[in-house]
Amino acid sequence: TVGCGWGYVKRNGLLTLSVFAVLTGCVLGAVLRGSHLSTQAKIYFSFPGELLMRMLKMLILPLITSSLMSGLSSMEPKSCCRVGVLTVTYYLWTTFIAVVVGILLVIIIKPGVGTEMDSIRLGGGPVMTSADALLDLIRNMVPSNLIEATFQQVSNSRPMIHLPLFLISQMFHWLVTVQPNFVYAIPDESDPSGRTVSLELTPPPEIHYKTRPGNSQQMNVLGIVIFSATMGLLLGKMGERGAPLVNVCQCVNECVMKITNTAVWYFPFGIIFLVAGKILDMQDPSNLGKKLGWYTITVLAGLFVHGLILLPFFYLVLTQKNPFTYIRGLLQALVIALATSSSSATLPITMKCLLENCNVDRQIARFVLPVGATINMDGTALYEAVAAIFIAQVNDYELDFGQLVTISITATAASIGAAGIPQAGLVTMVIVLTSVGLPPDDITLIVAIDWVLDRFRTMINVLGDALAAGIIGHLCRKDFPRGGTCKVGSCHCL
Ligand code: ASP
Repeated sequence: TVGCGWGYVKRNGLLTLSVFAVLTGCVLGAVLRGSHLSTQAKIYFSFPGELLMRMLKMLILPLITSSLMSGLSSMEPKSCCRVGVLTVTYYLWTTFIAVVVGILLVIIIKPGVGTEMDSIRLGGGPVMTSADALLDLIRNMVPSNLIEATFQQVSNSRPMIHLPLFLISQMFHWLVTVQPNFVYAIPDESDPSGRTVSLELTPPPEIHYKTRPGNSQQMNVLGIVIFSATMGLLLGKMGERGAPLVNVCQCVNECVMKITNTAVWYFPFGIIFLVAGKILDMQDPSNLGKKLGWYTITVLAGLFVHGLILLPFFYLVLTQKNPFTYIRGLLQALVIALATSSSSATLPITMKCLLENCNVDRQIARFVLPVGATINMDGTALYEAVAAIFIAQVNDYELDFGQLVTISITATAASIGAAGIPQAGLVTMVIVLTSVGLPPDDITLIVAIDWVLDRFRTMINVLGDALAAGIIGHLCRKDFPRGGTCKVGSCHCL
């Protein structure tokens, strides 16, 4: 049974600490804002939070590869196919519903209609000192991407010793961050010491994203998912010959989960500084204006309706079980999503919650979650649709029905293309805006508030993946006969 009151709080100590950490971070950030800390001081202050992000990111690659390879290799080909088709269909369906909810709300509330609005742009970046170099050293000891780590060390430490590799990495960095019309750099929240790089798209907007020179933190998660899923399927077909690698993957998976179990005790501490650091950096909310206020309310209302009414309703109808008991088992993951703004970084905790609290089949969770963290972003899709129509309203631009359909399709596609990292949705929104002839540089209108909305949409992204795992697990229970209901009250994983 699910306990309540003090007993519940005690049983879920880590969850309680995490919630407390978010609140403490908000208060600490708000109090310190008055003291006008220097940029350098802010960087040092945010460092524990930055380490938290790096720890989580470090686990993404081994978790996704080992989960998919071991999960798919042990499934029957028929079950694989069934789970795959159901998962992708369900993901597309819920994303599309999220977009429709967003469109309806923004048309009803009309946040962008009315008085004038200032465009808000992000500012410049700090300079590197020797203390930064020390922090860099510690950063490199906690690589957020094990493979990319090789290149990071080359570009950050002694370039002359590794000249050829250094040149290649610098060329890559130049392409990723500065070269116009080629690729865009994604803002990296975990990196407060990042410099600001101006990106040009076509037509060129003046959007400034933070990124560290020579230390671009991008990870092609979709590529990793596809590669690992293919490997998993092939390993399953190889039978005995593939068994050694499957065993390795299972061991890696167990180790990652064990590391997660230990690392979670650092999280409350990291969360305080992650949240407080972000609040220190925040624009003065009184400058944002009425329209952005209504826009924020519209996005939040959409996320609420989708995440707490529609998705639970789908869960209830498809599984005949109580969705809120299930969601209660996910609270730790939702708090981490709120604190980190990254569904990929939250993946280890979501996996932990599903396996330990919600009794979802291991094989299902190992497939549905990594795929979901990559392609299923209901919150992002909803936000992109609302933001595009809001920008149209601000510009007095009438959208006809055909354009609304285009927005719903491109917002779905853009959310699939968005990486599970902070503010990725802001970047892929260019696709939605250009599809209906809106100026992409108007993204600057919503940049100031995006970091807040990003946190809430990430929560809904994570919630959507986790509920999907419960639903797919239930629908495929004959293929994986283990089943079960949520056992939150009796579980101590949180
Ligand atoms: N931050 C979101 C996530 O990680 C993506 C986005 O909408 O920007 O799921």
